[in-house]
Amino acid sequence: MAASTPAKLKSLRATLAAKTHQEVLRMYIQKHEVGLLKHAFLVTVYRKWSANPPYHLTELGITTYDRQRVNNGQPVLAGPHAEYLLKHVWCLHLRIRSHAHLPSTGDANAYHFGTTTFVSQEEALHMLHEIWHQPMDEADPDKGLRPIVYMSFGDNDGMGKMRKTAFDFDPSSMSTTVAILDAQNIPVQAKITRSQTAPFEYLLQQFKIQAFDFDNGGNAAMYATVIAILSALRNELYGSLDNPRAKAGQKGQSSSKSAQSVIQWLMEWPTPAPPIGVSMYCWRCGSAEHSFTECPNSDLECSKCMNSPHTWRKENASTHTEGLCIFR
Ligand SMILES: [Zn+2]
Ligand SMILES: [Zn+2]
Repeated sequence: MAASTPAKLKSLRATLAAKTHQEVLRMYIQKHEVGLLKHAFLVTVYRKWSANPPYHLTELGITTYDRQRVNNGQPVLAGPHAEYLLKHVWCLHLRIRSHAHLPSTGDANAYHFGTTTFVSQEEALHMLHEIWHQPMDEADPDKGLRPIVYMSFGDNDGMGKMRKTAFDFDPSSMSTTVAILDAQNIPVQAKITRSQTAPFEYLLQQFKIQAFDFDNGGNAAMYATVIAILSALRNELYGSLDNPRAKAGQKGQSSSKSAQSVIQWLMEWPTPAPPIGVSMYCWRCGSAEHSFTECPNSDLECSKCMNSPHTWRKENASTHTEGLCIFR
């Protein structure tokens, strides 16, 4: 196996920077002779923040795809609506325990692509660090680290940079990052839409997929991955003699089933839980034995928030105790 070195990673990053995001994704998924890129992981990250300042990270959606594990690194036929690729995407949803009581948009409970776990912020950072530092060869550390193709959606990455003091994770500064892709931009390059800021709901509709709870961080990461892959491969997935412009739908390679049925199947597919954290957590009293909705201590509330001049804090006071309050 070829070795990866900081210089090779740097040179790969420079090569990929000259290409469009769609081209990079197509190369990674489909091309045979791509050198070190063949060993890359495709990682989508979606961060969710509390609704009120000071902003805290509440959820982290992560998906990973490892080309090496799918077919010894050789490209595979994507199948209807890319189902043969998408079934190898590992979806993770982490909620930050200490911030789980903070109001946020969307429903953090409504994750549909696997198991949610509650973690500390340190555990989440550690896991991201591990993903970004994976050996080419487990048995030989001298072979260096595998490249990462990092993908985000729209301004989610920029927001993360702005809020770096709240959650110190910036993939663009990591030496293993060889490309930074925007899943909101790939549909524009693939001519699915002309809007640079098209939301999840609209983009998924173009593939006849109905989005459920796309404001959940875990679902958002998976939907971003789906949108990017279906857009980048639209010609292969949907193109045919009677559909030369590769309009999405039950056409071409994807004529046998609907995209919605593939997404439904992915939601029912048994995805391994994240290797960290606990699946049960009550953010009112800090117990790992019951959930918030089953909490027997429903009379507890945070007096600090109760006496706060901010309406949102008063309204949120019964979701946690003083000991778990983020305000000191
Ligand atoms: Zn409780
Ligand atoms: Zn409080």
